[in-house]
Amino acid sequence: MVDMASQKRSQGTGQQRKKISSSKRAAARRAHAPAASPLPTLFRVGIGNDLHRLAEGRKLIVGGVRIPFEKGPVGHSDGDVLAHAICDALLGAARLGDIGRHFSNSSPQWKNASSMVFLRHVRRWLDDAGYGIINVDATVGLELPKLAPHIPAMENTLAQALALEPGQVSVKAKSGEGLDAVGRGEAIRADAVAMIQVVSSPPSSLFY
Ligand SMILES: [Zn+2]
Repeated sequence: MVDMASQKRSQGTGQQRKKISSSKRAAARRAHAPAASPLPTLFRVGIGNDLHRLAEGRKLIVGGVRIPFEKGPVGHSDGDVLAHAICDALLGAARLGDIGRHFSNSSPQWKNASSMVFLRHVRRWLDDAGYGIINVDATVGLELPKLAPHIPAMENTLAQALALEPGQVSVKAKSGEGLDAVGRGEAIRADAVAMIQVVSSPPSSLFY
């Protein structure tokens, strides 16, 4: 039969053992962390996509670049699908919600707004949350016109809005092969991914 005192002693020994092994693990983790930063290296990725119907008489703005064409995206703002997909990728990576939550399409504030403004806001929110952007990669789907000649301008404009170097932003373009709404020339779509990293201590609420 085990008396209460010895039971307490054995519990105490167990807890101490637990404490020692967890502090040993923490020390081992610290030993492998990069010496330059007191923070653990932490990367996060996010994904975003967007689709807008095309209509005659609307301006075609993609990645902040105005492209001469008879049709453009229907939208509350300027309908820049590429900028919207990138906003969602960045917000998703930082777990900060989505573009609809921050820039409601029923708010008069964003009526005909330039989507470059959205990107600048998103960049600031990521900064506030302690994140830096590593890179953004995106693909735009549009049947006509051909976007290839405008890609360098789009990459530069997007990088500027996000306060990044042009080399951190990649834009690609694809036609719809005559299929689906993009292929029939009825819509423009964009898909984007973003990678971000912790640069200063983010609020712990972001992780729960
Ligand atoms: Zn959109």
